[in-house]
Amino acid sequence: MRTQRQVVDYSLQKRAALRELLAGRVGTYDVCDASPYLKNAARFHGEPTEQRCPICRSENLIHVHYIYGDELKQSAGQARTRAELPVLAMTLREFQVFVVEVCLGCDWNHLIEQFLLGRDGLAGGTEDGSEPGAVSGLSAPNGSTPRRRREAQR
Ligand SMILES: [Zn+2]
Repeated sequence: MRTQRQVVDYSLQKRAALRELLAGRVGTYDVCDASPYLKNAARFHGEPTEQRCPICRSENLIHVHYIYGDELKQSAGQARTRAELPVLAMTLREFQVFVVEVCLGCDWNHLIEQFLLGRDGLAGGTEDGSEPGAVSGLSAPNGSTPRRRREAQR
């Protein structure tokens, strides 16, 4: 995405978590703890991938994109499909995206990436003084809640 910036990659943390599991220092129940909210978000807003789950190896991982930022108002903390992100990025100046991978088979989940999106990232950022944009169309029909980003880090 054009305005993507300040990318933080969590693949090291993910590998560390998998290592701990393989070494038996943590149990499957400790890392395969996706909440019903996260799994619903994966079902309804998730981006299917070709990647096999590293734990059960029977399902493909799904990426869930959570959005955060003051401009999002009540939509902050909700999951969005990947296709919605570029549209939001052209509407808002700046918001944070957290990407969580989820397996619906065994409930494995882990934060894999975070980054910023929004018009402020456009080269030579236009300061046209217009309103940050209508976010009224953003109310989500489902019950995904803002508290979810922590569970990928547990
Ligand atoms: Zn799995």
